[in-house]
Amino acid sequence: PSPRLVVGNWKMHGLREQSGRLVRAVAEGAQSLPDDVRLVLCPPFTQLASVHGIINAEGPSTPLRLGAQDCHTTSSGPHTGDISAEMLADLGVRYVILGHSERRQAHGETDVLIRQKVEAAEAAGLIPIVCVGETIQERLEGRTTTVLATQVEGSLTDGFTGILAYEPVWAIGSGTIPPIDELERTLSLLHGLLQSRLKTDDIRVPILYGGSVTPAQAPTIFSIGSLGGVLVGSASLEAESFLRIAEAA
Ligand code: 13P
Repeated sequence: PSPRLVVGNWKMHGLREQSGRLVRAVAEGAQSLPDDVRLVLCPPFTQLASVHGIINAEGPSTPLRLGAQDCHTTSSGPHTGDISAEMLADLGVRYVILGHSERRQAHGETDVLIRQKVEAAEAAGLIPIVCVGETIQERLEGRTTTVLATQVEGSLTDGFTGILAYEPVWAIGSGTIPPIDELERTLSLLHGLLQSRLKTDDIRVPILYGGSVTPAQAPTIFSIGSLGGVLVGSASLEAESFLRIAEAA
């Protein structure tokens, strides 16, 4: 089985000193993790280079990997303020989160745009982590299945080999996670949606869960055998809680 991924999405957090301290503490604690766990740290753009330096200094056996939180659809050009996948790869970045609900909502990102970003990431050799998930409104209206189907259909590429992250929007930052039997059903729904999107029964795309993942919830979440890992927001900003989640993986 492929290693379980514990991805830390720092969002817009992390000044130099604090992020350096965080990465060093995570690196130190990660030495005692089992071999089959990978920790992907996704700091803001401004900290990528320095976090890369710290991870690199850990040597080739480190379970730490570097990820970014977004990229542009093209590799270079007149796009003031944007960062390309090629630039990220050049910096030592291996993963990139795409289509996070905060970008879908605050930046109006559509499935079409996200798919173009996935293409750009793949072309640059990055592993895209594509986020999908329903809002509370969509959930209450019983539209979760159609929403996820549309997002999987629209934001993935035909030969997608990256990672899918299921993040119910209502679970992000709310302290509430879906009931575990419901989460299990949604993961198998997503597995089926991947099969029809990618036109194969042989799905190698790991599916992560994200939304209020804490050390307390982690053992329950990881009890789902088919889970590829977790995408952690606020609990990834503290080395101790992030490492405790990784220990449950
Ligand atoms: P929280 O873990 O803070 O709920 O955030 C989840 C998230 O959005 C990760 O991408």
